[in-house]
Amino acid sequence: MPAAILRLALPSPLRRLFDYRAPPGVPRSALQPGMRLRVPFGRRELIGILIEIGDSSEVPADKLKPALELLDSQPPLPPALFKLCLWTAQYYQHSLGDTLSWALPVLLRQGEPAEARQERFWLLNDGARMDDPRLARAPRQREALKTIAQHPHGVPHQLLGQLQLNKDSLELLRDKGLVRIEVRRHAARERHGSWLAQPELALNAEQQIAERAVREGFGRFGAFLLAGVTGSGKTEVYLQLIRATLEAGKQALVLIPEINLGPQTLARFERRFNARIALLHSAVNDRERLDAWLAARDGEADIIIGTRSALFTPMRRPGLIIIDEEHDASYKQQEGLRYHARDLALVRARQESVPILLGSATPSLESLHNAHSGRYRLLCLERRAGGAQPPRFLRLDVKSLPLDSGISGPLQQAIRQTLEAGQQVLVFLNRRGFAPTLLCHDCGWLSECPRCDARMTVHQRSNELRCHHCGHTQRRPSHCPKCQRLDLRPVGAGTERAEERLATLFPQTPVLRVDRDSTARKDAMHGLFERVQRGEPCILVGTQMLAKGHHFPRVTLVAILDADGGLFSADFRASERMAQLIVQVAGRAGRAEEPGRVIIQSHLADHPLLVQLTEQGYFAFAEQALGERRGAGLPPFCHLALLRAEAHKPGQAEGFLDEACSEAELLLNELQLEGIELLGPVPAPMERRAGRYRAQLLLQSGARAPLHRLLHVWLAALERMPGGRTVRWSLDVDPIDLF
Ligand code: ADP
Ligand code: ZN
Ligand code: ZN
Repeated sequence: MPAAILRLALPSPLRRLFDYRAPPGVPRSALQPGMRLRVPFGRRELIGILIEIGDSSEVPADKLKPALELLDSQPPLPPALFKLCLWTAQYYQHSLGDTLSWALPVLLRQGEPAEARQERFWLLNDGARMDDPRLARAPRQREALKTIAQHPHGVPHQLLGQLQLNKDSLELLRDKGLVRIEVRRHAARERHGSWLAQPELALNAEQQIAERAVREGFGRFGAFLLAGVTGSGKTEVYLQLIRATLEAGKQALVLIPEINLGPQTLARFERRFNARIALLHSAVNDRERLDAWLAARDGEADIIIGTRSALFTPMRRPGLIIIDEEHDASYKQQEGLRYHARDLALVRARQESVPILLGSATPSLESLHNAHSGRYRLLCLERRAGGAQPPRFLRLDVKSLPLDSGISGPLQQAIRQTLEAGQQVLVFLNRRGFAPTLLCHDCGWLSECPRCDARMTVHQRSNELRCHHCGHTQRRPSHCPKCQRLDLRPVGAGTERAEERLATLFPQTPVLRVDRDSTARKDAMHGLFERVQRGEPCILVGTQMLAKGHHFPRVTLVAILDADGGLFSADFRASERMAQLIVQVAGRAGRAEEPGRVIIQSHLADHPLLVQLTEQGYFAFAEQALGERRGAGLPPFCHLALLRAEAHKPGQAEGFLDEACSEAELLLNELQLEGIELLGPVPAPMERRAGRYRAQLLLQSGARAPLHRLLHVWLAALERMPGGRTVRWSLDVDPIDLF
């Protein structure tokens, strides 16, 4: 029998597999696709995943190297997840090895054993008594015993320090037979009698219809779009469906946007269930992530909650997938493997034959289109649950009004009234920092970033100029770098400036700022929300971090300082995003007894989009916007792929894209593909960023299949193109940002 040839996917951008011989002493029978092997690669060592075993290789036998080590006795990746990764690599035209790298927990990529860790737990022995006479004169042991007794499932050894438990005292208790050590997996095994830790709310009629529709679809693929206004009780529907999933002996996967990681969302799931919840989000460290991943794979976690990449968590008994806030842009990865977790979740649900529920108050136009065309079943919640009233909108025309740090007179008035009524105010401005630019009043110098075609933002607290595109930071100059004079003025307003001004206008009221600068510390956000929950009058100022997921019962006025940006942007998705943001921010208002008001400041207060959105609501807006997209032949009525390139020298990126474009034209002819347009190459909207010149080539196609046929052959050709070595290039299938 010829020696086995192992074809491995390696963490490399190259779209191919790499051939090796089996490691010395490892028989062919020990090898299965999905196992990890350590291999030599140039002067480095890499960990690859076995994709297939063959008998021959194009690599000459004397060049074929043996793998160094087999890392698994069982493939760590279950077949279902493996299949999903294969699909992902093909669809996004990405190297399989790199796709697997994005999908797997870091520690698995580094060769960590793919088995749940055993851990030592301290437990109380049966019959141990707190008043044991042997402890009469050992107060520390008595204390320790009491603490252990409070943890019927045991105290993990590594938490002793946090519980102020002293190891020596515990050893003495063990000698006396009062406590014992058990070695077991971290996840508590035993289940409680009921899955519910707290009673459920009685669903209203709309919620019931939605819940029943999904529940009746258990056990097979089906896609549902839950379109419910903010506060309509979508989360309650999720929770009850999860309970039904658990009762059916299955696991539920819940994806939430990056920004929703507020303790509120997670706490709600944890309070509701007696279930093992695995968390996979950015605040979880590598070890915890692997443990959660393994617990989900082995069926020890009942509910898996996480952000984008949690989509790739294997499940032993998959039952239901939920995508909360399905319109959220954070589901799309914007680097490396540019996948969309919502779109992949649909593929996964189909592959694993489970229902998938997409929920949002402001569904994406893509999902609404899918609902209209019958691919998703549309479920609507039109009223707020628990009787709260929808907020009222007021468009405030600020054309001729002086703006004081972005805040008009009538708005100040409204804020004052609200505070005097003992209520809270939320001021929304999607711009961090003090001011977006610094301007020299004498010579017109502007604080431009030396590395980007963009202005640097003034940050007052830190006395810096910062570029929000490349991170370049420098001290704020005291005089003009060009004319040396001193009259430098911040232009426009960011959250820092609004905060400062509001604090001066309302000196008696706490002003709390929420943006990436103010909440860099992990617990800052938590403390802040606690203050807001206490309910005293206050003003919250912030960016979109404030817009989502939070529940502020005492906020009755929401002010949107600047709604103009989304109305005349070059990006065809800008108006959709603007509308979603306005509706989401507005949804924070009046979620309890008092009705809410939303004031939108705009120079274009009569813009048809704003009028329609505020008078008829998001769904009317969305229909209109879909009509416009159809007319213009834009997504979801066409399919896009964007080839981006960047290089240190001007013209280089475009040179490569020109070559790529000619190649694509040739291939279109050769393959006789129709209906695909090549638009460009053109410089990116921000041509220079972080010191590189950027350009792009857009592919637009009425149908998906021919586009993907082209991409497949084209990418192989691009990889071989000499021009590609001097530029950095990447392909974005279904881009959501066109720059
Ligand atoms: P959404 O997820 O749509 O924003 P939530 O599920 O958070 O809505 O519900 C909004 C509020 O209404 C919450 O305070 C929730 O407890 C309450 N609620 C939800 N469903 C019901 C119901 N059937 N009866 C009473 N209150 C409800
Ligand atoms: Zn000057
Ligand atoms: Zn910059």
